[in-house]
Amino acid sequence: MPYLGAIADDFTGATDLATMLVARGFRTVVTVGPPGAASTADPGTGNPGGPEEEEPDAVVVALKSRTAPVADAVADSLAALHALRAAGCRRFYLKYCSTFDSTPEGNIGPVADALLDELGAPGTVVVPAFPATGRTVYRARLFVHDELLDESSMRDHPLTPMRDAHLGRLLAPQTRRPVHLIGHDTVRAGADAVRRALHEPSAREALSVVDAITDDDLRTIATATADLPLVTGAAGLALGLAGPHEGTASRARSAAGPGPGAILSGSASATTRDQVRHAREWLPHRKLDLAALRADPDAAVTALVAFARDAWRAGPDRPPLLYASDGAEDVAGALPDAAGLIESALARCAVELVAAGAHRLLVAGGETSGAVVTALGAGTLRVGAPIAPGVPWVHTEARLADGRSRPVDLALKSGNFGARSMFTTAWKELA
Ligand code: ADP
Repeated sequence: MPYLGAIADDFTGATDLATMLVARGFRTVVTVGPPGAASTADPGTGNPGGPEEEEPDAVVVALKSRTAPVADAVADSLAALHALRAAGCRRFYLKYCSTFDSTPEGNIGPVADALLDELGAPGTVVVPAFPATGRTVYRARLFVHDELLDESSMRDHPLTPMRDAHLGRLLAPQTRRPVHLIGHDTVRAGADAVRRALHEPSAREALSVVDAITDDDLRTIATATADLPLVTGAAGLALGLAGPHEGTASRARSAAGPGPGAILSGSASATTRDQVRHAREWLPHRKLDLAALRADPDAAVTALVAFARDAWRAGPDRPPLLYASDGAEDVAGALPDAAGLIESALARCAVELVAAGAHRLLVAGGETSGAVVTALGAGTLRVGAPIAPGVPWVHTEARLADGRSRPVDLALKSGNFGARSMFTTAWKELA
């Protein structure tokens, strides 16, 4: 019976957390939406001999709730919590982005409030730090490498522009609870000091933003919060969790085997744009034409798919790249309908390419990944080899419109993750 139940507000976040949990000794499955009886009881479908045939210790529910209306995000998260409890989970983890992607309305605060209320828990911690990916929190300010959050490229994110780096100020308008700050001095003093700080009257019923600048800080916070029914944070906090199979929780292997693939990049983040510019030197590529998509989406998608299939002649080592953005001006000048047009076009490309025989897809962008995985009708994602911190290959079955299912390997990359050469090197990690 699984012990840990996690709820991730987007799909790349779910696989990011799952890869960390596997590394920490949890047999982990990711379910697309709340787990049904089938997906937790039989997580190993289609992968005989894989570790997921064994009972999972952790289930991560992938939602697409980050930018959903608040009421929908709360309802979906509560549905996930109910399903995880029904599956036997006893501790819970709300996973959001290490850049705290949210708006003044939410959804981090409202979802944390709702989960706490449902669990009958008074308060919890807020820990977005993930030093391995350059995200640190000091004096409640979130840094992205050397820059404060609001000076990073997140400032101009098309859906969740982050215009402040102070987590207390970001969170206060989103929650009914008081926001409490626990500074780095307390964290450095050790788990007992953090535990004491969490028991102070001002913290007990609050959302407590906790500073963390190193992996050791995250381990300290995880130890101090081991008794809380719910913790919240990015994947970094899972560094401090210890699963029952430390050192032995093996990874799933490729579902589809060698074959053609594609890169579908809907992310507008600076890191992705750089990866696109690098990959263009090596791979067949085509940029989405927004005017063409607006005028005739069917014809535009058909042309993109035809281009990608034709490019398969270059061989599986040179998969075609279909991308939305390669420069800051793409986002700055975007019309309001652009994000939806891009997401649905790339999702349709994914479905048509898998139907045409694609074995593997690398998808860039959290929202984009959600659109692609949902369109593919995938139920359970099994965690495979890591490509970069926070980005594993995952293996699944796509359900096509005609009822057939096809094994497919997916890499779901959060916008700001991965090295510059990731689009050309990720394929080598596929085992
Ligand atoms: P990331 O992980 O980088 O945030 P996401 O896929 O989560 O990537 O979000 C990027 C959003 O921006 C998507 O909804 C995508 O469709 C949209 N987008 C990408 N390129 C553009 C563009 N040129 N103009 C407008 N929106 C864009």
